[in-house]
Amino acid sequence: MGVPLNQAVRVGGYILKQHLKGNKRYPLVLMLEPLFRCNLACQGCGKIDYPNEILNQRISLEDAIKAAEECPAPIIAIAGGEPLLHKEMPQIVEAYLKMGKFVILCTNALLLEKKIDQYKPHKNFCWDIHLDGDKEMHDRSVDQDGVYERAIDALKLSKSKGFRTSINCTLFDGADPDRVAAFFDMVADLDIEGVMTSPGYAYERAPDQEHFLNRQRTKELFRAVFRRGKESKKRGKVWKFTQSPLFLDFLAGNQSYACTPWGNPTRNVFGWQRPCYLLGEGYAKTYQELMDSTDWDKYGVGNYEKCSDCMVHSGFEATAVMDSIKRPWQIAKVALKGIKTEGAMAKDIPLDKARKADFNVFTRHVDSKMAEIHAAKAARQAAAQPAE
Ligand code: SF4
Repeated sequence: MGVPLNQAVRVGGYILKQHLKGNKRYPLVLMLEPLFRCNLACQGCGKIDYPNEILNQRISLEDAIKAAEECPAPIIAIAGGEPLLHKEMPQIVEAYLKMGKFVILCTNALLLEKKIDQYKPHKNFCWDIHLDGDKEMHDRSVDQDGVYERAIDALKLSKSKGFRTSINCTLFDGADPDRVAAFFDMVADLDIEGVMTSPGYAYERAPDQEHFLNRQRTKELFRAVFRRGKESKKRGKVWKFTQSPLFLDFLAGNQSYACTPWGNPTRNVFGWQRPCYLLGEGYAKTYQELMDSTDWDKYGVGNYEKCSDCMVHSGFEATAVMDSIKRPWQIAKVALKGIKTEGAMAKDIPLDKARKADFNVFTRHVDSKMAEIHAAKAARQAAAQPAE
């Protein structure tokens, strides 16, 4: 396990408390997207296809703190866009650490060397560097040559300065299990916290629509990769993941889980995103409004077409973590026997009753945000006019 003991104990205690209180829905990781602007344009990214006015929006330090005050999740993952483009990012991280949160700062690492001295190592703070495999895989995924080397250099720099550091690795259709395994072998020698791996979500706005994995392909790919992991272990290469073993077991097709989108509530420049980090089907003004007014049963695998292929960590990691508290023998089984990579898979959720996807929702939200931005600009200009 790549999660430090203090974090595992505190998060375990938090989950237990929620269960004892009888809370059915509670957050584990607050996903903060402080901006959508990025200095890369990855092939599988569905987060940056906005007009410039929206890409130029930022969540202020004040609003970032308010989000963490509203939402009791013990962990905050800061994603984007590229968070290091946000000028107040060091202050946001510092404020969260002072609030006692565990902070994961996701970055493509292009700006890390320039910005790293604005941050201090802390036991509850971890850099999470985007690396979708070896040089060829990663540079193809981010659609730019040379990014892999820069990310590796940044990772080494981060380690040399005493920071906790992990890797965020998204896999797409066509990934070669041998290459993925060789990449995890290489990572095993890097002395990092671990890898957070996941299949990519089939974002409707991503430039490359052809390489998203469906559920069956996801399970087959991860089984093939984990099979190779067992061979690597025999050669002394122990792969470390920052995720729950039951989430990895789910990726290998051994668990049939429904998602828990409220486990990773997302705050971005539109507001609190409904229902999850991956899907923007509506926005609430406050965290409480998100929890109270979202019709959660409308979403998830089997309920909504846009969810049909989803097995992403932000939707299912919380399910797996909660399950490991409810059924600890399951986690013990994986710990003792390893992840099953042969034989029958768990029966999956049927998809035939899923309601049809609404593909107009993106345009509606963009239009409404643009109207809000233009109204705010007009109000500022009117206020700046000298009175006649
Ligand atoms: S399955 Fe769940 S986590 Fe995945 S997109 Fe649908 S609501 Fe979000």
